[in-house]
Amino acid sequence: MSATDTDAAARAGALLQRIGGSSPLGEWSAPGRVNLIGEHTDYNDGFVLPFAIDRRTHVAVAGRDDGVIRVASTVTRDDVEIPLADLPALFPSRGRVPEWTAYPLGVAWALVAESGVEHRDLRGLDIAIASDVPVGAGLSSSAAIEGATAAALNDVWELGLEPTALARVGRTAENDAVGAPTGIMDQMAAMLGRTDAGIFLDCRSLEATVVDLGFAAAQLDVLVIDTGVKHSHATGGYGERRSSCERGARAMGVSALRDLGVDDIARAADLMDEVTYRRVRHIVTENQRVLDTVRTLRAQGAGAIGDLLLSSHASMRDDFEISIAELDTAVDAAMGAGAIGARMTGGGFGGAAIALVPRVRVASTMDAVAAAFAASGFRAPTMFTVTPSEGARRDA
Ligand code: ADP
Ligand code: MG
Repeated sequence: MSATDTDAAARAGALLQRIGGSSPLGEWSAPGRVNLIGEHTDYNDGFVLPFAIDRRTHVAVAGRDDGVIRVASTVTRDDVEIPLADLPALFPSRGRVPEWTAYPLGVAWALVAESGVEHRDLRGLDIAIASDVPVGAGLSSSAAIEGATAAALNDVWELGLEPTALARVGRTAENDAVGAPTGIMDQMAAMLGRTDAGIFLDCRSLEATVVDLGFAAAQLDVLVIDTGVKHSHATGGYGERRSSCERGARAMGVSALRDLGVDDIARAADLMDEVTYRRVRHIVTENQRVLDTVRTLRAQGAGAIGDLLLSSHASMRDDFEISIAELDTAVDAAMGAGAIGARMTGGGFGGAAIALVPRVRVASTMDAVAAAFAASGFRAPTMFTVTPSEGARRDA
């Protein structure tokens, strides 16, 4: 456990006491994630390669005998207490509870549906939540809170669901209780993560494979450079990219762009307008880059994947057009300072970049990025390293 980890665990425990949780049942946690490569490929039935990070959301749980579930978090005073029997009436409709509570309560609601048990057979609970995952920084604090809650309820209620089923429960909570139309990548990473490994996910079959990253042996660190720029065009831009991909797939006569290989790209040029063509080219080449990254990691090790990360960034900048000046500056400055690869990560239009950096160069890379941001008049970015870590687990 890292120092911050212990801290969030302690804060969750203290909060549980404060809200009067009198018969503690245990403590669980789940991590945030970084996507190493494979951007916007998920909704094209393609491939992604995220890893769980060493920043986690912790839940401390106590039993209660009145059939009521209560959720409380250190980041807000908006607790909610509700009879478990009322959950089916609460969702999927939105806005009846404070938004943050739709994550843990949505997990409880979706778990019951997934496992087929009756609400009246379930024990009431007090759930206290504290986190080290920065919220809204693109590290998926949402999958972390879902994963920690799902792991806890699965154990306490003895539902016996597998981690992949718990990932599905997290996505259902996020899609139908919160109302955010996301894929399942984040939840799979939060549930299945392993030390120094990535989760290679086929978004069509949902088959997940643990792939050794070998960052530790290669003395490589992943530096997160959070631009602090909120995704102001994210909703519109995301929808527009999705429609382009659907249009491109129709023009090519396939059900999803996943069904195309790089050899098909030349043919695409004649079948669609120039912008759609570039959108298609990003998805098709990005899928190939995920496959190449997995192959390269296995054959040559982490030191050899830098160029794939860089071409991924160039493709998002030039073909998919979802980067911004701050992200390009972060990538260029990190490369200039000795990173072996760098790319924006997440949906784009803001958020964070990652750089794969030899450990001895992390400090100088951070200095170089900070200087480049200052020279361009950008707000100073937030920077920290992350380590590929374990998925959801019981801690106590
Ligand atoms: P991201 O997943 O990139 O951090 P999201 O908007 O998907 O951003 O999810 C963030 C939301 O998840 C927060 O606005 C809040 O509603 C909820 N959330 C995450 N962590 C916590 C926490 N520790 N306590 C309460 N709510 C949280
Ligand atoms: Mg999220």
